[in-house]
Amino acid sequence: MTFQDLDLPPFVMKAIDQLGFQNPTEIQTAVFADVFAGTDLIASAQTGSGKTAAFCVPIISRLIENPASTALVLAPTRELALQIDEFWKQLTLFARGFPSACLIGGVSMQAQDRMLRKQPRIIIATPGRLLDHIRRRTVRLMKSTSILVLDEADRMLDMGFRPQLTAIRDELPKSRQTLLFSATWSPEMDSLSKEYLREPKRIAVGTVSKVAPTISSRTITTSQQKKNETLLEEVGRLRGQVLIFARTQKRTDRLARYLESYGVKSACLHGGRTQGQRKAALKAFSTGESRVMVATDIAARGIDVAGIQTVINYDLPQVPEDYIHRIGRTGRAGASGEAVTFLVPEERLEWRDIVALLKKTGSQIPKGSEGVAKQEVLKAEKGAPVQKASALKAKHPKGRIVPAGAPKASNPEAVPPTTGVITIPLVPAQVAPKAAVRRQVIVPSERIRVSLVRR
Ligand code: AMP
Repeated sequence: MTFQDLDLPPFVMKAIDQLGFQNPTEIQTAVFADVFAGTDLIASAQTGSGKTAAFCVPIISRLIENPASTALVLAPTRELALQIDEFWKQLTLFARGFPSACLIGGVSMQAQDRMLRKQPRIIIATPGRLLDHIRRRTVRLMKSTSILVLDEADRMLDMGFRPQLTAIRDELPKSRQTLLFSATWSPEMDSLSKEYLREPKRIAVGTVSKVAPTISSRTITTSQQKKNETLLEEVGRLRGQVLIFARTQKRTDRLARYLESYGVKSACLHGGRTQGQRKAALKAFSTGESRVMVATDIAARGIDVAGIQTVINYDLPQVPEDYIHRIGRTGRAGASGEAVTFLVPEERLEWRDIVALLKKTGSQIPKGSEGVAKQEVLKAEKGAPVQKASALKAKHPKGRIVPAGAPKASNPEAVPPTTGVITIPLVPAQVAPKAAVRRQVIVPSERIRVSLVRR
């Protein structure tokens, strides 16, 4: 199937051309005809498979067919909702009469009221904020909603949105088309789909929750004490955009500050930040102003930043499926990518569950990951003691340049100088006293700024 076969309006074809899409992806080929036909659908596809376009493109045609109708898309996170809205705007760039309203928390109600007064043809919302509007009577869904999309429905359930989803369902007309997208399936999902859909057709592309084959994965055995040091080394070695996942908001903040203190521009994204801060972080990361973004699992799904080359699992996710969603941030729409996972003894059990899931879904199992033997990790810790700041400074008075991709030299001084790569004298945060004096130096003959930590 090609886009030309679909008889799409010329303005959509122009937008698709501008977006650089040559042919529909697998999920798009699988769902287009049914969405056009008005069938209820349950669709599961690998992350990054192009599912946003899979529902947005045919929805435009449906809205043209019925000028009095509107669509509603529910998404679990603000970021995903914003991304869908952004895609919708790109798709309707060359047309008038398809305004959207994006209703998410953390943004003023008044601005959203203004968008709603423009009679949007599509509302893209997170469940909580949509309900706020319904209760204030600034949104009325009953009359015109002809298509409902539940995007990343499994995530909405994980995030505890079930009561809100039920309340929203009661506000919708019974006669409508419903499309449910979910990466995973559970008994709770089953009951949700029974509540929302009528004789749905099921479409699965690839194996549900499978790691895309274009992503290569590896593990690094380390310890909690040495994680920061290992991370610094990895980030210095890697090229391109790097997305790092940490478990808690505090750890995420701390890690971003730690990387910044070594001169690595790092954005930080988690649910404890304001909407403005979250938007700014995403912008800095997607424009490349920050090469690194540290995030909690809020970014595991939905975030679509083109060209993320590496995902690092600094901490393991608590829900095994999130491992697949996390690393799905790289290798999007057929591109290649790499996933690096830190393994520590404390997270052995979580890793065991992730490996079991990878096996079950027929995904590639990263090398060196058949269980993290505690002794092995402890041996690794013993063999490579954390270096004292003073010893490092004596050895590398001006820091050292690590060429990206270079093999680790046993004699660090033997590494040839280069430019453009981060320079890091490794002083783990744990051994650096709080009162440590930081100064910045420029390594002679290199155009690289180096941060040194000095006692
Ligand atoms: P999604 O799964 O919707 O988050 O999409 C993942 C990425 O695939 C996004 O960057 C889309 O812009 C891109 N994409 C969607 N459809 C196509 C297509 N037909 N050809 C190339 N890229 C696409």
